[in-house]
Amino acid sequence: MNFFDKIQDEPFRSVAQVADENNRSAYVIGGYVRDLLLGRPSTDVDFVILGSGITFAKKLAEKFGNGNSVRYFKNFGTAMVKYKSWDLEFVGARKESYRSNSRKPIVENGSLTDDQNRRDFTINAMSISLNKNDFGKLHDPFNGLNDLGNRVIRTPLDPDITFSDDPLRMMRAVRFASQLDFTIAESTFEAIIRNKNRITIVSGERIIDEVNKIIMATKPSIGFKLLEESGILKIIFPKFIALKGVEKVKGLAHKDNFYHTLQVLDNVAEKSNSLWLRWAALLHDIAKPVTKRFEPDLGWTFHGHEFVGAKMVPGIFKKLKLPLNEKMRYVQKLVQLHLRPIVLSQDIVSDSAIRRLLFDAGNDIYDLMLLCEADITSKNEAKIKLYLENFTLVREKLKEVEEKDRLLNWQPPVNGEIIMETFGLRPSKTVGKIKTAIREAILDGNLHNNFREAYNFMIEEGKRCGFEVKKIVDEPSQK
Ligand code: ATP
Ligand code: MG
Repeated sequence: MNFFDKIQDEPFRSVAQVADENNRSAYVIGGYVRDLLLGRPSTDVDFVILGSGITFAKKLAEKFGNGNSVRYFKNFGTAMVKYKSWDLEFVGARKESYRSNSRKPIVENGSLTDDQNRRDFTINAMSISLNKNDFGKLHDPFNGLNDLGNRVIRTPLDPDITFSDDPLRMMRAVRFASQLDFTIAESTFEAIIRNKNRITIVSGERIIDEVNKIIMATKPSIGFKLLEESGILKIIFPKFIALKGVEKVKGLAHKDNFYHTLQVLDNVAEKSNSLWLRWAALLHDIAKPVTKRFEPDLGWTFHGHEFVGAKMVPGIFKKLKLPLNEKMRYVQKLVQLHLRPIVLSQDIVSDSAIRRLLFDAGNDIYDLMLLCEADITSKNEAKIKLYLENFTLVREKLKEVEEKDRLLNWQPPVNGEIIMETFGLRPSKTVGKIKTAIREAILDGNLHNNFREAYNFMIEEGKRCGFEVKKIVDEPSQK
């Protein structure tokens, strides 16, 4: 592998110059070296300096000129230098020792070897020298090159110590296995199993960062299966594990919803890079365990799992330190609606059912369709083909109705304020009811989608509720 050329260019050239001018040893280390050897381009580079990383970074920034920002993290002894699109991080070589109740180590200055000893995996511990006397030399004390060739994740030292010291490394092992499609060495994986309970000293924010990286991998199921096998998933996300298993009554079994969900997740991942659509895939059947029944006439049912599931989303997001904002509401919405296109594909589709779905899904309708298509995980090719064809019909119908009725992000022409002004009312449940009646009448196709018709309909509805018209309101001007 010719990494030699790469490190002759900027920003490495300037780092090498600063090192020689100041008589410092400087090395590229960690993820950048790994990715360089794997041929995965990256602009995040970590450097180890013998001596102070901060002083070094200052000198480098001077060399690059004023425009380059340096950020210091004195507590960690690290400094970041921005150079064009590069993020360069400098740290002085260090030796770390750990206490049992924290993943924050006691840090001392150390040698390059000390620094490599504190790295999490052999493939992440390699460094390349930038100094004149051994420029381009690969320092690979744990034979990371070999593991890279064999596509193996392995800790450099005793894995029990590595994972017990900093249990986040267990998540990182799984994450790298997923991102790189590597396997975890047997002895390393066994140590993860033994140390799984240590994960509880890691903050939820750190854990979810790694989970999200696993979800963003090309084939996220790899990571989730490893998390499951190691026992970590049960600790960090027990509701998800509840999907696992098959029950049989009178010879009738349901599918294993854990593996089904992972398949759906992989299917979505093939089509979309959206983290939140992938989360919707992960959670679409989350309420199956709590809604599961065996009904003698029907067999296994999961009635209402889409509604119960949507209700579970906020609690799960909160627990997992995921954002409680519009991303969460998006996931909720997709979970709640994930059966609707299936229903549409089975019945003779009426325009009103399509209108209703367009209204409920809004701009997320295409993500919803993608999720539904991903949800087909039958082993029967003919079935898959049939279902996909049905969904193609639903898509066509959606397009047709949308072109005609423009219901994406639509609001009914008469709103609550107009209702209140007309009848001289304060906000109340009845106002809401009238509003809903107008919307439903339009979605059902009983009323045209214009202000006049909706307004007249509203007056009739109001009168039926015993209200008197106090004022005729004009159509609000269109912005
Ligand atoms: P990526 O940037 O894709 O997440 P990376 O390997 O660069 O991958 P970083 O988190 O950027 O990962 O860390 C840079 C390097 O620091 C790693 O390659 C590894 O050598 C070391 N490192 C990071 N976190 C840990 C840890 N928890 N324990 C030991 N070493 C670590
Ligand atoms: Mg990195």
